[in-house]
Amino acid sequence: MTDVTRAPVLVLNQNYQPLNICDTRRAVKLVGKGKAQTVLESGKFIYTVSDIFERPDVIRLIYMVNRPLQRRKLSRNEIFSRDSYSCQYCGARLRDMTVDHVLPRCEGGEHVWTNVVTACKTCNHRKAGRTPQQAGMRLRTDPIEPRPNPYSFLKIGLLNKAWLPFVPWLVPETNPSSNLEPAVAAGD
Ligand SMILES: [Zn+2]
Repeated sequence: MTDVTRAPVLVLNQNYQPLNICDTRRAVKLVGKGKAQTVLESGKFIYTVSDIFERPDVIRLIYMVNRPLQRRKLSRNEIFSRDSYSCQYCGARLRDMTVDHVLPRCEGGEHVWTNVVTACKTCNHRKAGRTPQQAGMRLRTDPIEPRPNPYSFLKIGLLNKAWLPFVPWLVPETNPSSNLEPAVAAGD
């Protein structure tokens, strides 16, 4: 088999919910073992010494997989994304944002979802090593841990257009022909 065996295949759960992405080699194996069925073929073929396979684009498991959802990683980008890239003190949306610890670290504040917010540099500077109360500032929202994203495996650059009927929320409603990558990024 050649490199085509590495081409990504969308794996659906038994209930057609996107579950993950695997390579063609694994997809063909799952189908061959009767653990999955091909839902959408690619129209492209894989030639081996003894056989010809039609490469699947989408397969579906014949059994239901209950995958524990992974918690969101506490990173700058995830914090900015949770806060819609806006300063949680003044509401400004700037390119140059910072992460503020609501209860300052020097006061024992932890680096956890419920103690970090997006802040513009001005607000962060003004607040300095104080609590919002001490600084006379108010949070616009209480920071919470965002829900896990079950589709975080759908990364930019991995999206195959053939998968779109199975991930319809990634399709921009107004202009279906526009570049899909930003929509994928926003959903991540
Ligand atoms: Zn601000």
